[in-house]
Amino acid sequence: MALIDFHCHLDLYRDPNRVVAEATRRGTYVLSVTTTPSAYTGTRALAPKQGRIRTALGLHPEIAVAREHELPLFESLLATTNYVGEVGLDGSRPHRHSLERQTSILMEILLLCARAGGKIITLHSRGAESLVLDVLETEPLAGSPVLHWFNGSKRQIERASERGCWFSVGPAMLNSARGRECVRHMPVERILPETDGPFGQTGNKPLMPWDAMDIVADLSSVWGQDTSEVRERLVKNFKQLVGATDRELPAFSHNRE
Ligand code: MN
Repeated sequence: MALIDFHCHLDLYRDPNRVVAEATRRGTYVLSVTTTPSAYTGTRALAPKQGRIRTALGLHPEIAVAREHELPLFESLLATTNYVGEVGLDGSRPHRHSLERQTSILMEILLLCARAGGKIITLHSRGAESLVLDVLETEPLAGSPVLHWFNGSKRQIERASERGCWFSVGPAMLNSARGRECVRHMPVERILPETDGPFGQTGNKPLMPWDAMDIVADLSSVWGQDTSEVRERLVKNFKQLVGATDRELPAFSHNRE
């Protein structure tokens, strides 16, 4: 079975090398996101050459203000990857006070992406769903936004879809009634699996990259499609998004488990 995890913090597991080895053994495609530019090179080194792990260059909104001095490093590394993230805005209570500075940092990142010719960008938007969409609209050439764990309203989801956003959805999100309600409004052809591991958890255990496809059962009931159709759809979505930019991506081996 083709396995995809489009948002995972490989470098933050207790034993990243073990997770990488097992993901590789299972043929899992992983978008390995980072939280600071200074973590990028080391995280990228975890991924075997010619494999299915791709490393995204990130500056997480919860630490973006403290690490603003890493923006020049972000700029110098940007040409080495098609993928950016985790970036975005956090409007939850502990970070709300810095939203203005977070916003200017995100705008700077999107401008750099646009200048580079567009990237696939995985975005955090907790408590700042509308604001993230506002900022994305200021830089339409930044690339393809993937809203990760997007808990917006039906209207916000529609607005995001209309402006070309994708959505990555994981088992932890679908464990909540709110998350299941959100997924109902997301277009079938714009959804990708994610874990957000090791932060994304089920039963107090960190989700592993190969667990992302556990969303198939829930999507199957939401969409009224059988599980094999849902799996096919997710793989098709993934190829649609990355296929044009990532020509070195190895084909999925089917029958791998
Ligand atoms: Mn994350």
